Amino acid sequence: MQQSKVSRADPTDFVRSLRDGIGQPLNVNAQMDVHEFWNLLFDILEGNLQTTHQPDLLRETFGGVLSNQYICQGGSHYISREERFSYLSIVVKHHETIAEGLKQFVQGEMLSGSNAYLCTECQSKQSTIRRSVIQTLPGMRTFTHN
Ligand SMILES: [Zn+2]
Repeated sequence: MQQSKVSRADPTDFVRSLRDGIGQPLNVNAQMDVHEFWNLLFDILEGNLQTTHQPDLLRETFGGVLSNQYICQGGSHYISREERFSYLSIVVKHHETIAEGLKQFVQGEMLSGSNAYLCTECQSKQSTIRRSVIQTLPGMRTFTHN
């Protein structure tokens, strides 16, 4: 559409061609939230791509990597685990911009008191910052508003 004079696309043929994991047509009358539909669509398309010469096309296009981090405040110990994602839920309510929502997303939280994290290096519960930061951005970012 970006390269054409058409202002809209008719997805009817595309939607009719979609089949779930057991070969049933997609029920377009079933109400889903956007994340649920995205995951279903992603799974269907990724499954169909496995027999093509680009089986990782969706993951390479829409996939990113989060680094889930635990930063121990007692001894500056650091644990990081990678997690792949195809979308992020960024809260934009009460924010002026998406950037503010992203800033809050990566800010993280302090685990302390009864929520303190058991640090294996310190071998005791320590106040710990838990946060998720974007390690690798997807090639294509999609934003929805709900
Ligand atoms: Zn520690």
